Amino acid sequence: MKTPPLSLLHRIGASDVASVSGARFELRSPTDGSLVGEVARGAAVDVDRAVASARAAFAAWSTTPAPVRGEVMFRAAALLEARKDAIAEVMAREMGKRVEEARGDIQEAIDTAFYAGSEGRRLFGHTVPSELSEKMGFTLRRPIGVVGVITAWNFPVAVPSWKILPALVCGNTIVWKPAEEAPASGAMFAQALWDAGLPPGALNIVHGFGDEVGAALVAHPDTRVLAFTGSTPVGRSIAEIGGRMLKRVSLEMGGKNPVIVMPDADLGLVVDGVLWGAFGTAGQRCTATSRLITVGDAHDRLLDELVKRAKALRLGDPLDAATEVGPLVSEAQRQRVHGFVERAVAAGTPLRCGGAFPTEAALQGGWFYPPTIFDEVKRGSELAMSEVFGPVLAVIRAASFDEAIEVANEVPFGLSSSIYTRDVNVAMRAVHRLESGITYVNAPTSGAEAHFPFGGVKDTGNGHREGGWAPYEFFTETKTVYFDYSGTLQRAQIDNREG
Ligand code: NAD
Repeated sequence: MKTPPLSLLHRIGASDVASVSGARFELRSPTDGSLVGEVARGAAVDVDRAVASARAAFAAWSTTPAPVRGEVMFRAAALLEARKDAIAEVMAREMGKRVEEARGDIQEAIDTAFYAGSEGRRLFGHTVPSELSEKMGFTLRRPIGVVGVITAWNFPVAVPSWKILPALVCGNTIVWKPAEEAPASGAMFAQALWDAGLPPGALNIVHGFGDEVGAALVAHPDTRVLAFTGSTPVGRSIAEIGGRMLKRVSLEMGGKNPVIVMPDADLGLVVDGVLWGAFGTAGQRCTATSRLITVGDAHDRLLDELVKRAKALRLGDPLDAATEVGPLVSEAQRQRVHGFVERAVAAGTPLRCGGAFPTEAALQGGWFYPPTIFDEVKRGSELAMSEVFGPVLAVIRAASFDEAIEVANEVPFGLSSSIYTRDVNVAMRAVHRLESGITYVNAPTSGAEAHFPFGGVKDTGNGHREGGWAPYEFFTETKTVYFDYSGTLQRAQIDNREG
């Protein structure tokens, strides 16, 4: 049965509204080009309205007790569980993620919602003794105001949930611009929050493009906090604008994630892990494995099997349970990925598999690209250094563990990394020396769990973390309270000192 196209409007306050201009854009399936829906195309004036709505909602939501705010999260988690299949289907249709992985994307939001709900009963401060008698000090966590949330398409529900749910539990209100490539599953995620009793205006959505809606949200004087996931160039520009306006800005950006394979590794485990890390979600994950750094003879014992298994991966409709690799998100993305491949081939890099548009008739309607492996990739080359964001793996040889660490660390990014070895000493050395926010031992570079901090170093981030307890610091201001119950003037640093 053919699903009718969706019609998506902005959500401002309690109402679903069209753009002031009336403009819309089409959302097309990357699998077969069919129309998934029509989406309101916002502009600065729509952002103004949404921010005003979020500001108006702030007074009541920020003074709602945090445990009560948390209860909304529990109810939303239950609704997301009930709607998981329906949201996963829409996600698979709009951005091409395999339905099994789409379910995982939504599960991450459910886990985050349960965590956020219980955080409503914590939001701890500190109680600290004063240096003066009959005086004490403690800290409170206070909501900040309106948060502008801007997200990428590749995790249309999980990544927004990492920002939106903690920000709400902390008492902030939000204007969210979902990615233009995947707004529909995100809107279903938001609907679960509204149906769970989130008051009107606490979460507003303005759909549209980065240079129109995103830029207006960033530059709006009333968005005191900006939380962004996307590419490093866009994140850098948001940090510049936000910095000038003294906003609090959290950035989660690109990756070039390495797996180091030591000669003593379990190579069967490596092959399974690298296939999942490099070609899951067609390589379109910020934590995708994009470099395989082999030490010593691990290379020769590993590569043929890896290539054989990569060639055998089934491309196809993400809604088909037998599919192992879905399409890329768009034609532009496929051209971009292929550009990296063409330049690497032109530079003489040995191509072991993939590297050309598929020729099967069934795949002609979509933006499919096969798992691609380049061998003997040179250190410092484009393929070794730049984020491809597609199913392309660069294999780089290293003579020793030390050289492997050097190779791993010589990229500008630092999101995720991994080492496969049976030697605990080597593993622990790698944990300490790899420059990344996340390191896996004997597991691929993807696999974040909702209750651990997530984020990267160097050009991947600006020092903040999502997931776990970390965002509750980011989305609150600390207030220090001095409470003097002595009934006299007590001057710190003076009255408690002699002379
Ligand atoms: P992108 O930077 O082009 O877009 C991300 C979001 O920013 C979109 O909503 C877009 O509309 C918006 N945007 C674009 N220009 C803007 C502007 N000038 N002002 C404000 N907003 C603007 O990124 P993309 O290509 O859609 O996503 C892929 C990138 O996201 C990759 O680099 C990937 O590594 C990264 N990513 C990182 C993480 C992480 O947690 N580190 C997670 C997922 C994706």
